[in-house]
Amino acid sequence: MIKISYDDIIRKIKEEKKISDEEINSKIEKKIEQLAGLISREGAAHIVAHEYGVKVFKEGAMKISEILSGMREVEINAKVLTVFGVVSFKKESREGKVASFLVGDDSGKIRIVLWDNSHISFIENGQIREGSVIKIKNAYVKDNQNGLKELHLGEKSELILNPDNVEIKEISSVNNAVFSNLTVKKINELTENDRSVAIRGAVVQVFEPRFYEMCSECNRKVVLEDGQHKCSVHGAVNLRYGIVSNFVLDDSTNTIRIVAFREAAEKFFHLNNDELMAIRTNPGKFEEIKENLFGRLVEVKGRVIKNIIFDRLEFNANNIEDLKAEVLLKELER
Ligand SMILES: [Zn+2]
Repeated sequence: MIKISYDDIIRKIKEEKKISDEEINSKIEKKIEQLAGLISREGAAHIVAHEYGVKVFKEGAMKISEILSGMREVEINAKVLTVFGVVSFKKESREGKVASFLVGDDSGKIRIVLWDNSHISFIENGQIREGSVIKIKNAYVKDNQNGLKELHLGEKSELILNPDNVEIKEISSVNNAVFSNLTVKKINELTENDRSVAIRGAVVQVFEPRFYEMCSECNRKVVLEDGQHKCSVHGAVNLRYGIVSNFVLDDSTNTIRIVAFREAAEKFFHLNNDELMAIRTNPGKFEEIKENLFGRLVEVKGRVIKNIIFDRLEFNANNIEDLKAEVLLKELER
């Protein structure tokens, strides 16, 4: 949900850049045309504002699960789960302290790293402890060497104890949003050697899924021999069906074909295995589902594969998650 209206976006661009309505409108029309109707008028206005360098987002806290690698000016409200304490370090001429603790909200968990002594004193004097509710403003995201996202606070960041009107009731047990041992890349930056990357963009084309027969014991492909389905390991076996889905992702730098098997396909379609199998026997069902997939914003994690026949790069997905428009746009603004 984008919280700022179309008119407000236009007003902001006009105020900051002294550009006429006419010029702004023609840019927005062009953008809508370029994206072939995949984007709303508001969405197009956001992108145009971004191209002018105008920030349209109001201040506000985000959920931990919405935190993406490379983000700056992050604001969150969270509850302290574990305090790891203060460590002194000495490097060449530099000497200092660093402190860290784990926080959570109803969407996920993330480690917070403090570099500023005024913030670190909150831990030293026991004001930040397990159960404390805090607000963090103007923090930045870093990936540590284990590939975990961390939220770092420097001297320009704010750390507010017991903020007004903030209540953290539930803590999510989900921790996967915090993990990202992947590099996020633009599609035009992908190379054949990328084995663990994430790309983000809009779904612009979806192909009918294909099904293949596999062994019910080990998921290997089976062959039909003497009227029996045979697995190279298990011999004659019962069948299961695997699904492979193909779609095209566009991130404005380029497009790429995504190949998603089984669980990744289930996540893409938002369907469980039984529901997917219903498509196999009733292809008409796919036409209904397809409508909802166009324009969906997703993050796809996986690896690049070279399609030798077509001499092009494709992407083998091992996980697909929906992205909220505002998260993607916020990232564009960074
Ligand atoms: Zn088998």
